[in-house]
Amino acid sequence: MTATILRGCHVLTMNPRRDEYPDGYVAVEGNRITEVGGGPVPDHLSAALVVDGGGCLVTPGLVNTHDHLYQWATRGRAVDSGLFDWLTELYPVWARIDELVVRAAATGALAWLARTGCTSTMDHHYVFPRAGGDVLGATIEAAAAVGLRFHPTRGSMDLGESSGGLPPDDVVEDIDAIMTATQAAIERFHDPSPDSMLRLGVAPCSPFSVTRDLLTESASLARGAGVRLHTHLAETSDEDDYCREHFGCTPAEYLDSLDWLGGDVWLAHAVHLDDAAVGRISATGTGVAHCPMSNARLGAGICRTRALLDAGALVGLGVDGAASNESRSLRGEITAAASFARATGGAAAMSVREAVELGTIGGARVLGREAEIGSLEPGKLADLALWRVDTLPHAGIADPVAALVLGPPPPLELLLVNGEVVVERDRLVTVDERQVAGAARRASESLAG
Ligand SMILES: [Zn+2]
Repeated sequence: MTATILRGCHVLTMNPRRDEYPDGYVAVEGNRITEVGGGPVPDHLSAALVVDGGGCLVTPGLVNTHDHLYQWATRGRAVDSGLFDWLTELYPVWARIDELVVRAAATGALAWLARTGCTSTMDHHYVFPRAGGDVLGATIEAAAAVGLRFHPTRGSMDLGESSGGLPPDDVVEDIDAIMTATQAAIERFHDPSPDSMLRLGVAPCSPFSVTRDLLTESASLARGAGVRLHTHLAETSDEDDYCREHFGCTPAEYLDSLDWLGGDVWLAHAVHLDDAAVGRISATGTGVAHCPMSNARLGAGICRTRALLDAGALVGLGVDGAASNESRSLRGEITAAASFARATGGAAAMSVREAVELGTIGGARVLGREAEIGSLEPGKLADLALWRVDTLPHAGIADPVAALVLGPPPPLELLLVNGEVVVERDRLVTVDERQVAGAARRASESLAG
């Protein structure tokens, strides 16, 4: 057993009482937090590693609730387009990915998530080219190499252009093949244990790229296997128009009619919601992955986070794929969540601490793991981020939490995932950042054309 103590730092616990200690400590034994408190480290605690957290803020590790890791290899394309035009330009590029490209892209994406304070991330992978090899396995290997807690979802598309969908026919799969591959992925990878570093989910892509049958069969498979369900919903007004035209209802009503709202479901974006949809999402315990920077990049709109939170909905944050968010970091999404809520709803629409809440315990709830991660409490898994807020960009900012949320991105002094060091003084210790960058660049170049 190794023991680590962080001392002398500002501790933002995100525990149920939202305790905060301006000069406190966090003790870690193995992969768990054992003690958290204010003042000097108690005499009974000793550790092999004592980290002087003076000038730092410690928060729970950030939780990413929506992403497409493979998109790290397709950044900087369709840079001025809205969602449907952006997708139409990118689908043919994505059709050329394979497991080598995905491994390099996912490693790059995960490495940057770690460098920017993220300890747990999902992935939504829905492009499976016939000659692409084991692309899902490649993302799982990448997460193990970087050392993040991982919630990959086996995504899917089965509604090609010739059947009225948006994606070209050569990037969609047959429903039977999807079900077989999804079942096999759950059996191969899903670890339901309480300390799990890897939980699989099931994630048909979106109402305009999958059939009704795929949604229904996916829900039944996931519920039979005890894994969670995810999809994109109500991202743009185009999608709203599509659903009204094809299904005669809103996107949320469509999902509701297919028994696709519930405590085992979380939805990416949920931007275009009417009051009835806000009410149903909240009443059913459905989670929302709010992705403000991607929504801004694609001009999709702004999620009604205040209305959702006031209605009691579970809201977390997501960076979304790097092709729609080149700057992506969870810290940036926290800032954007607060900024966008205030830009639309006034200064009281989201406090800086509430924004951090969405990026930590809020995300943990959305992934169904609030008992294990998302806050600094004795007994929880040791996933934490120690941010330096005493150097030039932040020195003198009176409130360290405001320094994190409103100031420039802070240096990351330490990132622990499951008690293991992943980042130290802004440097990855699990993978070689220069090699990761080189492989990601080559992967991106291999898709050029
Ligand atoms: Zn997405």
